[in-house]
Amino acid sequence: MSIRTFRGGAHPPERKDRSQETPIERITSVTQVVIPVNQHFGAPLQPLVKVGEFVKAGQKIADADGRMTVPVHASIAGVVKKIEPRMQSNNTEGPCIVIEPKDPPEGEAAQEFMQPLDPFTCSKDEALARIRAAGIVGMGGAGFPAHVKLAPTKPISFVIANAAECEPYLTIDERTLIETPEKVVEGVAIVMKTVNAPEGVIAIEENKKRAIPFVQKAIDANPQVKGGMKIRIQELRTKYPQGGEKMLITAITGKQVPSGGLPMDVGCVVSNVGTLCAIVDAFREGKPLIERGFTVTGGACKTPKNLIAPIGTVVGDLAKAGHIQIDEEGLRKVIFGGPMMGVAVPGYEIPVQKNTSGVLLMSEQEATQYEEDTCIRCGRCIRACPMAITPALLAIAVETGNYGEAEKIGLLDCIECGTCSFVCPAHRHLVQRFRVGKQVLRALKQKEAQNVR
Ligand code: SF4
Ligand code: SF4
Repeated sequence: MSIRTFRGGAHPPERKDRSQETPIERITSVTQVVIPVNQHFGAPLQPLVKVGEFVKAGQKIADADGRMTVPVHASIAGVVKKIEPRMQSNNTEGPCIVIEPKDPPEGEAAQEFMQPLDPFTCSKDEALARIRAAGIVGMGGAGFPAHVKLAPTKPISFVIANAAECEPYLTIDERTLIETPEKVVEGVAIVMKTVNAPEGVIAIEENKKRAIPFVQKAIDANPQVKGGMKIRIQELRTKYPQGGEKMLITAITGKQVPSGGLPMDVGCVVSNVGTLCAIVDAFREGKPLIERGFTVTGGACKTPKNLIAPIGTVVGDLAKAGHIQIDEEGLRKVIFGGPMMGVAVPGYEIPVQKNTSGVLLMSEQEATQYEEDTCIRCGRCIRACPMAITPALLAIAVETGNYGEAEKIGLLDCIECGTCSFVCPAHRHLVQRFRVGKQVLRALKQKEAQNVR
């Protein structure tokens, strides 16, 4: 099998060995869940429940009209204790529904799932409605609604399962490939059927090679593959950010997603491993997205693990219940997500949500921030940028407030991967500038559009 990749990138220390041998552990009992009302990229939701109400696991508790919305469901059976703003994994406060576990009233069920639905005989509209009803969003990043992604307006040639897991530390996707490969393969088949794609590709980085025999066996045993569906594995070079949608597409198809474009513009749909598993559960069990797998690790985590826990599980509660042990004295930084693209948060009393792929409890050594120095014009950031941007020049444009120039250089194409910052010998805070710069540029463009109207 040829090994493919993209131009640029970097090799941050992997640090996956801490948790990659640890089988996934399922957390079934929690003392509370704190469920953020808004966990998707799109219009805000309204709570549908009141304080004091009993809710079943799987019951819809927040929703809104509109295409870019997905409902949120109770992840445990219990009583709604509070609806109030809480700190969330994106480092902002937002409305959360707090549920404490309780047995259902006499004669009532503890669970409210949908009826199973056959993904290979239902219509496309039924499939998309099921994916929305299950509250599924992209579980690897921004939480984009899956039913919108799976309704492309252009023909699709490839469904790509993003099993690259290129962020250091994270190992939940690798464990999922090893432990439940048949679910990942069935997820690819369902998405292929939904978007009418002729080919499915499961993209795995070289450093997760040992998962390949498990996945190949599951492909060979899959009934749709036996019936003629084409699903294959593509091995990729271990390189960050190989798991970025645009990098994956280039590595697999040789095509470039145009500036400002979408994967469907080059005939691709990309889905994360967790999302594919959630899609299978939604059809086969009628189960909404009420739990997810994630890695808890880092130098200040004495018990690095891969867990599946109800959405809304507070990381601090996992420690109180003894599921994880935190080195309180050594803890310097908490990150939700991976170390390159994750979000640093003020502490660990924060709930796991639909897009939480990992929780990093970082030690002093891991969290060290170096002083910024002057740019020495070495060009390393330019060679490493996977989007072919010139980060050194872009930083100057942003710093000087020249947003017209920043846009020309490619500010809006920046995927905020942090590779430029990682390779910079002067420790320039490049990606931090670009994140803020993108927000400012978008606000300026919005204001300009309003003035024109
Ligand atoms: S953060 Fe942006 S500019 Fe820096 S390497 Fe990534 S895409 Fe390029
Ligand atoms: S890597 Fe850093 S020092 Fe080198 S050109 Fe880029 S910004 Fe300047």
